[in-house]
Amino acid sequence: MRVKILGSAAGGAFPQWNCACANCRAVRAGTFQGKPRSQTQVAITEDGRSWFLLGASPDLRAQIEATPELHPRDGVRQSPIAGVVLANADLDHVLGLLLLRELQPLRVYATSSVRHILREDNSMFAMLQRVPDQTAWTDFASGTEFHLRDAQGEDSRLLCQAISSSSHYPAYVTTGRQSQLAPGEASLGFFINSTARTRLAYLPAVPQLDDALLQQLEECSVLLFDGTFWSDDELIRVQGSGQTARQMGHIPVETILEKLAGLRRPRKIFLHINNTNPMLDESSPEHRQVRDAGWEIAEDGWQFDL
Ligand SMILES: [Zn+2]
Repeated sequence: MRVKILGSAAGGAFPQWNCACANCRAVRAGTFQGKPRSQTQVAITEDGRSWFLLGASPDLRAQIEATPELHPRDGVRQSPIAGVVLANADLDHVLGLLLLRELQPLRVYATSSVRHILREDNSMFAMLQRVPDQTAWTDFASGTEFHLRDAQGEDSRLLCQAISSSSHYPAYVTTGRQSQLAPGEASLGFFINSTARTRLAYLPAVPQLDDALLQQLEECSVLLFDGTFWSDDELIRVQGSGQTARQMGHIPVETILEKLAGLRRPRKIFLHINNTNPMLDESSPEHRQVRDAGWEIAEDGWQFDL
């Protein structure tokens, strides 16, 4: 399996258009010791030919253009992108679907709750259904395993398992609609197995760590893990108000370093990093602490095989 990290920031990207936190200001001033980042986007392939996107970020058009493997190869209208696997209905995870609307056949995997939100409550997504066979929507249930297939049904030989991580639906979903949806279908993480029996964890939002999850992490080759906030009160300190990291469904990185200190097997990479996170600054003590703990901090454009 080949994995490409096309984007590594949390929603809003880095810098964020309306943010003047120390990090965002320093990037704009050209004094930041570190890299700007687009919104989290991962692409995977088993055969190097057919690619699957984990989510579809609002930055997807630029991310595709920056990635030669994802450019059209055969004919005037074609794409190596075979499908999209959705972990939730958050705008920073699904808006990119609308950018893939040019009548290109695609398979989109989602829980039935996420599919209901997008297709029944948001009429713009009808642009993905203008002709028969444009978008093949395929439901999956938490806990089950499914093979990733292209729109025609051809098997990529990547095996995906979804696990439920949070019961919070996005704020734009009406309370009436939320009452009809399954709580376990709101936000998921994925474990993806290659034919070589290597295993990738994609967990951009982890609200809690229990023994069952720890055991699953130990069986992985590589973790792409929630690196959203350094500390629980990070946003409140920067903005003067707001929610804690935990209220937003993210364990702070400082706690993750402690709780996963015993994890030996997998390569450990933080992604989905908020622009306020001090570890983005490569001259910061937080950055040093992360690296010393054996973790990496994802950057746009990274690629690895497993
Ligand atoms: Zn900022």
